[in-house]
Amino acid sequence: MADYKPPFRDIFFVLDNLVDVGELCEFEPFKHIDPDTIKAVLEEDGRFVSEVIAPLNRSGDLEGSVHDPKTNEVTTPEGFKEAYAQYVAAGWGGVPFDQAYGGGGFPWLVGIVMQELITTANVAFSMSALLTQGAIDLLLHHADEGLKEIYLPKMVTGEWTGTMNLTEPEAGSDVGAVRTKAVPQGDGTYKITGTKIFITFGEHDMTENVIHLVLARTPDAPPGTKGISCFIVPKYLVNEDGTLGERNDVACVSIEHKMGIKASPTCVMSYGDEGGATGYLIGEENRGMRYMFTMMNNARLSVGLEGLSVAERAYQDALQYAQERRQGRAPGAPAGESSLIFEHPDVRRMLLTMKATIEAMRAIVYVQAENIDIANHHPDPDIREYRQHQVDLLTPIAKAWCTDMGVEVTSLAIQIYGGMGFVEESGVPQHFRDARIMPIYEGTNGIQAMDLVGRKLPLEGGGVVGEFLSQIAMLDPSLIRAGEELSGIRSNLAEALTTLADTTNWVLRNGTKDPRAALSGATPYLRMFSLVTAGWLMARSALAAKGHLDAGTGDAAHMQAKIDTARFFCEQILPQVQGLVAPVTAGTEALMDIPIDQY
Ligand SMILES: Cc1cc2nc3c(=O)[nH]c(=O)nc-3n(C[C@H](O)[C@H](O)[C@H](O)COP(=O)(O)OP(=O)(O)OC[C@H]3O[C@@H](n4cnc5c(N)ncnc54)[C@H](O)[C@@H]3O)c2cc1C
Repeated sequence: MADYKPPFRDIFFVLDNLVDVGELCEFEPFKHIDPDTIKAVLEEDGRFVSEVIAPLNRSGDLEGSVHDPKTNEVTTPEGFKEAYAQYVAAGWGGVPFDQAYGGGGFPWLVGIVMQELITTANVAFSMSALLTQGAIDLLLHHADEGLKEIYLPKMVTGEWTGTMNLTEPEAGSDVGAVRTKAVPQGDGTYKITGTKIFITFGEHDMTENVIHLVLARTPDAPPGTKGISCFIVPKYLVNEDGTLGERNDVACVSIEHKMGIKASPTCVMSYGDEGGATGYLIGEENRGMRYMFTMMNNARLSVGLEGLSVAERAYQDALQYAQERRQGRAPGAPAGESSLIFEHPDVRRMLLTMKATIEAMRAIVYVQAENIDIANHHPDPDIREYRQHQVDLLTPIAKAWCTDMGVEVTSLAIQIYGGMGFVEESGVPQHFRDARIMPIYEGTNGIQAMDLVGRKLPLEGGGVVGEFLSQIAMLDPSLIRAGEELSGIRSNLAEALTTLADTTNWVLRNGTKDPRAALSGATPYLRMFSLVTAGWLMARSALAAKGHLDAGTGDAAHMQAKIDTARFFCEQILPQVQGLVAPVTAGTEALMDIPIDQY
């Protein structure tokens, strides 16, 4: 296994060429920072995660977190507690949050790059930070000042972690089926009773307090998602002076034995076994789902990023292995010598597929993070609105495509290792096992596809998707001007875009007439949309790299590699779009009328 090395050349390429960090630094909340400071912070963070967090990845997988059924305490793997203390001491978790609550006041984009670094170092470890950031985000937007003052400062530093409690045995994808009860006590507090399952870092030994955000129903709440409220339920109640008070009536009664992310405790949480846990309402009753939706774009982007991260880690391992392992004779190699497997065309195909997909994922994730910053902070309301539309449209793409690719790329890493890839000691199976949950949680990828087709395409009567496709089309003249070297990128992108535009019209037309027809093709449609989005960003990368080469700026070898990788993506992966037309437009009968249970 290779030691984790943060891929700063590519990270900085995207920051310098596909997004505009300088523009973000001109927005009011970010005026105190500049692009050089951002790079320095990222490099320092990269050093920290590779030295402190990455070495715990394998041992964390082997050891896992352990639940004690007598005390209901959870012990994280050796070294986690100490590493987390260092993470808190350095203040890494607070970098993208409001300075008023002790954060660093950096753009979300910077927070996202930092998430990539920590997640690539150690997915399981990163999840406590990820969930805490999601909880902070929700509180910042919706909690009243009193609650914010009590909870946010310690959550922003990371001294207290946060959790998101949505799922129950009967309420998974269908969050509206939540049954956990919240009964008002007349003193502003509520008594919470119920069981939540699959709660990430619901209990652990890394911090003195855990702040649970819990979805529950008040007694007269309307059914479904309209009757869900959101509560803060701390593990330890907090006294007025900020010190910790009594233990709340919440316990982790068991943890799951999972195929991956074993160091991240996935907890069954029982609320109210002793009469009711004390909860504090966030915002207003019955608005919990709305509040969840405001943080969902960020949370889904963070999970998409997990797909990128786990793929990057697997690629670093596979590349090193392919440059060390000798087997067979590559075409043209001298007789009597065995070649590095790196020299075999099929292994190069796998490595290039991994590399190109990773670069495309990174571009999508960072561009989406920039969209979030601009939607939140640009002084012009029209631009804010436009970027918010892009955020809404691209959220299912970032979440679903990047996590699907996380699984595919980690599987390719196993293939490159051959038989050793199937052997746990090689360390590679862990990446695949860790990746497999990502298409499932934070809204399964099937739900993401339904969201794209059912909610996002109809935005503004199809106007939002129309604008997005026009934006891609606007790249064409620059690609033509770039000449022969980029002509394959240009023709493939143009063809794929036409196919996507025609198919989008089909989905919009048929979605209104027969939603089942559109939903039947939702997943292949999401794949098609993602490929074109990725192809567009790879084309922009190639144009930027060519610009650097022509101007004699940047590292010439790296710039040429960016062009070559973009060509590989657009000429060899992007044409898959054509094969997706049939499954998208097959219609309802092709799926619903086939008797699946007759076999
Ligand atoms: C390791 C792990 C960590 C987790 N962390 C958390 C956490 O911190 N907090 C939390 O609240 N939850 C968490 N979850 C729960 C996770 O979000 C759910 O597992 C997920 O939302 C899917 O719900 P489900 O498991 O009930 O599957 P189901 O909803 O039963 O889905 C089963 C299958 O049916 C499909 N399906 C369901 N409904 C539809 C529909 N309407 N249309 C089309 N297809 C549909 C799904 O796509 C899926 O393929 C975690 C889960 C795991 C395994």
